[in-house]
Amino acid sequence: PAQPAASASGKPGIPGVGAIVAVASGKGGVGKSTTAVNLALGLAANGLKVGLLDADIYGPSVPRLLGLSGRPQTQDGRTLVPMQAFGIKAMSMGFLVEEDTPMIWRGPMVMSALTQMLREVAWAPLDILVVDMPPGTGDAQLTMAQQVPLAGAVIVSTPQDLALIDARKGLGMFRKVNVPVLGIVENMSYFLCPHCGGRSDIFGHGGARHEAEKLDIPFLGEIPLELAIRETSDAGTPIVATAPESAHAAVYRTIAGRI
Ligand code: ADP
Repeated sequence: PAQPAASASGKPGIPGVGAIVAVASGKGGVGKSTTAVNLALGLAANGLKVGLLDADIYGPSVPRLLGLSGRPQTQDGRTLVPMQAFGIKAMSMGFLVEEDTPMIWRGPMVMSALTQMLREVAWAPLDILVVDMPPGTGDAQLTMAQQVPLAGAVIVSTPQDLALIDARKGLGMFRKVNVPVLGIVENMSYFLCPHCGGRSDIFGHGGARHEAEKLDIPFLGEIPLELAIRETSDAGTPIVATAPESAHAAVYRTIAGRI
């Protein structure tokens, strides 16, 4: 994957952690977290040591997506030991607070929670740390991009224009903070009917590829809108880990190989 974490930005990397890569989207609900989890597992399937940091403080979804619950252990009094699932390490606010506790923190507290989940977690040794970013392009995202020595960002978008417009804003944000955009993934790209086998472009199709070409950014691939992806996500049994021989798992592994 991408370059080591000791980036040109001068921000200190995390000892023993290779590259830190953000998975981002312009808005919520486009499948960013589902994609981040399956790409992380795809990277692991490709032979890398992988960690997944859920940076969505207000709406953590990594615990559910990986079927994890419980509290992380600590070592040396303060370092958190990441949770483990399907061969990857994971850390999320969801492990540290009760599920129904509303997060009413202001920006600085969010930043300190993120910093702690980055720097006070026993991540090492990792080849790559995938960060599931919060949706949108607000302050939290900007600060995150500024604080963390990101090797690059992967943008997840649906083909819809609205999602694309927002994803475009996301691109602008990463450019502003000099984080290279590694490419765009089009999620919910098309639908294959399980009954008749026919294909429907529910949200239109090809918008992200077209946009990527226009912006001269790599287009990393298309993920279909697929019942099995939704069901395995909700069940905490991500498709790349539990159905590695499926065509969908292959799609994620291929995209992971392009990061
Ligand atoms: P985000 O992180 O962008 O808010 P999520 O990953 O939580 O989005 O996904 C939103 C919903 O869409 C979830 O129910 C998830 O299971 C579903 N989903 C995501 N990607 C796909 C896909 N390719 N096919 C079917 N369902 C999907």
